[in-house]
Amino acid sequence: MSDVRNVIIIGSGPAGYTAALYTARASLNPLVFEGSVTAGGALMNTTEVENFPGFRDGIIGPDLMDNMRAQAERFGAELIPDDVVAVDLSGDIKSVTDSAGVVHRAKAVIVATGSQHRKLNLPNEDQLSGRGVSWCATCDGFFFREHDIAVIGGGDTAMEEATFLSRFAKSVKIVHRRDSLRASKAMQARAFADPKISFVWDSEVAELHGDGKLSSLTLRNTKTGETSELPVTGLFIAIGHDPRTELFKGVLDLDAEGYLTVQAPSTRTSLPGVFAAGDVVDHTYRQAITAAGTGCSAALDAERYLASLA
Ligand code: FAD
Repeated sequence: MSDVRNVIIIGSGPAGYTAALYTARASLNPLVFEGSVTAGGALMNTTEVENFPGFRDGIIGPDLMDNMRAQAERFGAELIPDDVVAVDLSGDIKSVTDSAGVVHRAKAVIVATGSQHRKLNLPNEDQLSGRGVSWCATCDGFFFREHDIAVIGGGDTAMEEATFLSRFAKSVKIVHRRDSLRASKAMQARAFADPKISFVWDSEVAELHGDGKLSSLTLRNTKTGETSELPVTGLFIAIGHDPRTELFKGVLDLDAEGYLTVQAPSTRTSLPGVFAAGDVVDHTYRQAITAAGTGCSAALDAERYLASLA
């Protein structure tokens, strides 16, 4: 068993690294579990990031995350490329267990485990991510001026993404598995009224095509099984996100969709000394800058909590 540290941070996206930077600069010697597979978080899977302030010409996602990591390390954050596999957060001293079974203890914990966008699970989906395939219109819409785009999904997010994309695109086709939408009536009405948006009902994506860049989709009719080709150079997948909160079920309060709940505007969770930041809390904004912002808030909340114990 290790000595008791001030703070342990679980997660290494913009929220985790920002919390690490702030707690390190406050001399709290944070220990950061970065995750074994995707250290650096969601932006490790993208190319150009043009909306993170401070980079006038944009920056490649993995470069941005390398910078954040190095900046946190420069001030003494200790980084471990491993997963936390169990937590005990109830007492004054919290413990987290790594994949080798080693228990690490701290007075405060910041959870920044992010969320996973749902995929179509098609063979070349990952290769085409950032090369025509996207999960975020706010992030990538600007790259698709005058493109023909497909949006997959039938909920509010899909309608919102399609309506936003119609500002840039030549055309937007919403492809939906059923013949009616789950989206609210108001969101549906906006999409139906948009002259650039049309609908492909009872259809799912069977294949993605493109040599280095997306060029078309094969659609399959869910009722007849018939297939057809849809030439598009943009595909926005809007079928939901899953917050990474498996570890915290029965430990911290979660909302109906499984996101951690915090006592906003603070980052305090349902247990004293445990704070949460970034997409694991956020249904709404899901941006690198908002994750970094709440990572900063969590660090400041943890710092004040630790000061109150002294
Ligand atoms: P994440 O970045 O998801 O990081 C969470 C981290 O926690 C991961 O590294 C994971 O491995 C780790 N983790 C999870 N569980 C554990 C565990 N048990 N133990 C240890 N570690 C764990 N936003 C923008 O602002 N601009 C963009 O251009 C943009 N482009 C995007 C492109 C793509 C393809 C995607 C998927 C997202 C994009 N986003 C963009 C959104 C942005 O990436 C997210 O909003 C942001 O990364 C969320 O940060 P986070 O720190 O909350 O979580």
